[in-house]
Amino acid sequence: MKYINKKLVIEKTSIENIAKKYGTPTYSYSYDQLRTNINNFKKSFKSFSPLICFSVKSNSNVNLIEEIKKFGLGADVVSIGELMTAIKAGINPKKIVFSGVGKTSNEIIYAIEKKILLINAESKSEIKEINRIAKLKKKKIKIGIRLNPNTDAKTLSQISTGKKENKFGVNEKTFIDLVKYCKNSRNILLSCLSVHIGSQILNHKPYERMLKVIDKIINKTNYKFEFIDLGGGMGITYNNKNRKLDYKKYNFAVNRFLKKHKSKIIFEPGRSIIGNTGTLISKIIYIKETKNKNFIILDAAMNDLMRPALYGATHKILPSKKIGKKTKKIYEFVGPICESTDKFITLKKFQKLKEKDIIAICDVGAYGMSLSSNYNLRLKPLELLIKKSKIRVIKKRQKYKDLI
Ligand SMILES: *Cc1c(COP(=O)(O)O)cnc(C)c1O
Repeated sequence: MKYINKKLVIEKTSIENIAKKYGTPTYSYSYDQLRTNINNFKKSFKSFSPLICFSVKSNSNVNLIEEIKKFGLGADVVSIGELMTAIKAGINPKKIVFSGVGKTSNEIIYAIEKKILLINAESKSEIKEINRIAKLKKKKIKIGIRLNPNTDAKTLSQISTGKKENKFGVNEKTFIDLVKYCKNSRNILLSCLSVHIGSQILNHKPYERMLKVIDKIINKTNYKFEFIDLGGGMGITYNNKNRKLDYKKYNFAVNRFLKKHKSKIIFEPGRSIIGNTGTLISKIIYIKETKNKNFIILDAAMNDLMRPALYGATHKILPSKKIGKKTKKIYEFVGPICESTDKFITLKKFQKLKEKDIIAICDVGAYGMSLSSNYNLRLKPLELLIKKSKIRVIKKRQKYKDLI
């Protein structure tokens, strides 16, 4: 996104024109940014060409995933719905991994029938269940075991997943026991060690520590894993102050690890592929000034973008036109929903805005639409894919008849 002649544009399309033509709130994704992100990600790790499995939970739009597939990516899914979506998008099942602590029997059966690459199991009970189903189907199924490396990802606690108090994966001791257990299970072929320590990680050091833990545990088990799945979690810059993840250092650490262990690396990035491609376009309904506080009430709300309400995330907000006049007061940007957590950001000294103005909430491609809901019986927004001046509807706005 940039300003051309003081107008905010996504590629070559102004957000004001999008709002006029398609209404608001609307998610718009930039194809050019998506391509850039994928190419950069591949370049960062090209010395060992990992299998890159896009994390479908970060954005589950089937048309977007179809575009992502065209770059050769696979998928990381966490439910049968996401698995169906990845297959519908044309992703080769041999590039799909299935994660999650609570896969049901139906989900396991479906994954086996679709012949996906790996089911990453997270408990002994799950491994037993996979073995039972594989036996019924007279098959040998490749699985991974998710290790909880007890590594602090130094990110928000709500999106940390690799510490011992988190529900994800199994600890070192259990991992070693489970490797033995799998060796004796006839219908299971243990092929992968997987980890995923959290999301929005901006420091490479947690990844280095995680690799050390994996190295140590492989040495202890003395088992040859065909795949090492390092998960995702690479953070993006939400506001200018934030640091950037040092991909060079992460790449260096993986290369050092690969000198000792010859395995194929899998990554499961979500946010770093899709996060900064998406913009939520919204209109100001009212501006409400009170004695204590001032509010800018948008037509987008926490049901459209839940990250601020869910874990205090902040997203930059930009005006559709630059006019140069500034406000002096402090304003809270809120949605119309009947919850006090339905607010996006508090700003002071920003460009003067008025009712009916169009604004853009930035970097909402990941965990934006995929976390949306119908709370307050609001319709889910429209989604658009922008390629230069071409606009394609990739998901229609919901209709009341779908809801009532
Ligand atoms: C959520 C998730 C990811 C993706 O995380 P990002 O921070 O979006 O890269 C990858 N793997 C697993 C197992 C996940 O749960």
